[in-house]
Amino acid sequence: MTLTVLNPATEEPIIELEQAGVEEADAAVARADKALPEWRRVAPADRARLLRRLGTLVEEHAEELAQIESRNVGKPISGARGEVGMVAQVFHFYAGAVDKHYGETIPVAGGVAATFREPLGVVGLIVPWNFPLNIASWKIGPALACGNTIVLKPAELTPLSALRLGELALDAGIPEGVLNVVVGKGSIVGQRLIEHPDVAKIGFTGSTEVGQRVMAGAAATIKRVTLELGGKSANVIFADADLEKAAAAAPYSVFDNAGQDCCARSRILVQKSAYSRFLDHLIEATKGVKVGDPSDEATEMGPLISAQHRETVATFVDEAQIVFRGDAPDDVGFWFPCTLVEATNADRVAREEVFGPVAAVIPFEDEADAIAIANDTPYGLSGSIWTRDGARALRVARALETGVLSVNSNSSVRVSTPFGGFKQSGFGRELGMHALAGYSEIKSVYISTDD
Ligand code: NAD
Repeated sequence: MTLTVLNPATEEPIIELEQAGVEEADAAVARADKALPEWRRVAPADRARLLRRLGTLVEEHAEELAQIESRNVGKPISGARGEVGMVAQVFHFYAGAVDKHYGETIPVAGGVAATFREPLGVVGLIVPWNFPLNIASWKIGPALACGNTIVLKPAELTPLSALRLGELALDAGIPEGVLNVVVGKGSIVGQRLIEHPDVAKIGFTGSTEVGQRVMAGAAATIKRVTLELGGKSANVIFADADLEKAAAAAPYSVFDNAGQDCCARSRILVQKSAYSRFLDHLIEATKGVKVGDPSDEATEMGPLISAQHRETVATFVDEAQIVFRGDAPDDVGFWFPCTLVEATNADRVAREEVFGPVAAVIPFEDEADAIAIANDTPYGLSGSIWTRDGARALRVARALETGVLSVNSNSSVRVSTPFGGFKQSGFGRELGMHALAGYSEIKSVYISTDD
């Protein structure tokens, strides 16, 4: 079976690829399993050197990778360059982490106990289409650092950057079989990885719906799972905030990547006493978002990923609630304009993940009301708090049921800091030293010192 990979900005095919099935998935797991004993024995400094070389090769091929990502996902080229820059940083970070991830000695009666951090084995990594290379690197970096081998399944719509990364890993000197990229359907190749008895863990990023299937499927073989799932994050703006600054930043926290971002602050909660002033600023700022050709350096928002996804996004917009709708190209491409709606937290647009450029603006009364509304969601991935009151910022940050927050900023994803969700946004942490825990097992060895 072949797969046609499209450019979502032009609807033109980029390439036809063969799709793997169960047999190819099994062959990839077998290659990873065969490569495991040698890879886990590689001395830490040598493993670090190989990861560092991969980071350097990503830097050297940064423009090529950014162009691939921009064409395949419809991302503005400037954003794609930033993402590839992060991929290189991720490999450099985990190169530095390899020899700093060690065990302890624990004094106990009759001897000593030592802990070792062992690799899990073959790990299956299943990633989505919105940040294909970035999210793959967040998993590959710690997985390789800990001595695991990998079968990576990119999303069907966006496999190209992962395939190129697989080639670069070989060029970096990472042995054959350590990083295997298999292009195929989630329901076939992904499902096979979940069921495969020789796969020790699934590192999954994607929708909460598929995450539920991953978790249920993994139970049969007690596989470890890390789940990075959907979000419906709140951008909470108090009346004492720098309203102009908060409003200028807000559009980019929802409309970046055309809203196809698990961290999108797609519920904008605004204190009633500042509501109309803030909304005026927000509309002005949203008018400024440059939508168009992803290859143009000035473009800030490209198209959605597919025609089908555009149809889904459209179902969230109630014409009667629209307070602003921007412009977007109306010829070829899966375009959708930046859209602001006034909503209550009970409306579907505020409850479900839209994954498109649609933001719900919701008023709140006071601090307690803001916390209650922000937490009234099954999700808990990210969020922002805008206020000039430092104590309030910390109080609210502690009260929000969410994994990743920012204060007077919408930026909360960094290579060195943990990333992951509360509630139905998943569990386990990626990035930072925290990710290493998800790709290693602690072994405790007792050594008797008796005569
Ligand atoms: P998706 O869940 O449809 O697919 C994700 C991956 O799972 C793809 O590779 C897909 O092929 C695979 N898959 C699909 N069905 C499968 C099955 N039955 N068994 C195994 N694998 C299967 O998600 P998507 O549409 O590609 O991505 C969008 C979703 O990802 C959004 O919900 C978004 O919030 C989420 N996301 C989360 C994070 C995070 O870190 N929390 C980051 C990015 C995206």
